[in-house]
Amino acid sequence: MNDATTLDKTGEPVAAIAVRGLHKSFGHNEVLKGVDFFVDPGQVVCVIGPSGSGKSTLLRCVNRLEEPTSGEVLIEGVDICDPETDLDEVRSRIGMVFQQFNLFPHLSVLKNLTLAQRTVRGRGKDEAVEIARHNLARVGLSEKEAAYPAHLSGGQQQRVAIARALSMNPDMMLFDEPTSALDPELVGDVLAVMKELATEGMTMMVVTHEMGFAREVGDKLVFMDGGVVVEEGRPADVLSNPQHERTQAFLSKVL
Ligand code: ADP
Ligand code: MG
Repeated sequence: MNDATTLDKTGEPVAAIAVRGLHKSFGHNEVLKGVDFFVDPGQVVCVIGPSGSGKSTLLRCVNRLEEPTSGEVLIEGVDICDPETDLDEVRSRIGMVFQQFNLFPHLSVLKNLTLAQRTVRGRGKDEAVEIARHNLARVGLSEKEAAYPAHLSGGQQQRVAIARALSMNPDMMLFDEPTSALDPELVGDVLAVMKELATEGMTMMVVTHEMGFAREVGDKLVFMDGGVVVEEGRPADVLSNPQHERTQAFLSKVL
């Protein structure tokens, strides 16, 4: 946490992400059954759990890509479900990276990085290009600015997607299984970029199956199952000494 950390009325630091009592149903299917979830500024929180446990739904509720059924989601103290809230403004503080890289296939790498800067941030061309180049260098892909996504490996495409999100100068980054679609030999480069970001102090929520990353880079590890947070704690503690039977059963399958 740094000096710029916002404090609430009682002098407590405001969480980057605060989720309280979150419920989300799709029709009769209750997918989130009362989730409390917190990320402090500068923290890296990793989320693990079996397929279908609600990890993506939680992440998508954090920037209201999904509408919560009930409960509260605060981004840096701002209630994203309050009708008074400028949702676009709050979303612009949150960078998103998905399993499928979602680059624009018909645009060059550089154009992928400058488009939203110009349309959403209202930046001029020169500034947008300068920021794009800075972020391409951060992910080690300066030489690819003229390439089209189809000519890049999956790992390179994902690093471009990260650079694109960073070019919007977000306060925090959400990652939903960013390496799950990659060939094993390409995973390391993406994780290295994410680790570097964490080292630089970026606030991060990372849904992942990469237990090594969670252990090494995460400040907190959250295990979800059946739409609830079953267990959370320091990654080394949760991974080495899980308290709940469901966590033990899950980890015995994946470790
Ligand atoms: P995870 O990311 O942990 O695998 P998800 O959050 O993607 O889990 O999904 C949890 C459950 O919610 C699944 O049963 C899934 O089918 C359901 N679900 C997710 N998104 C939708 C949707 N848009 N419409 C209906 N059901 C959905
Ligand atoms: Mg998912």
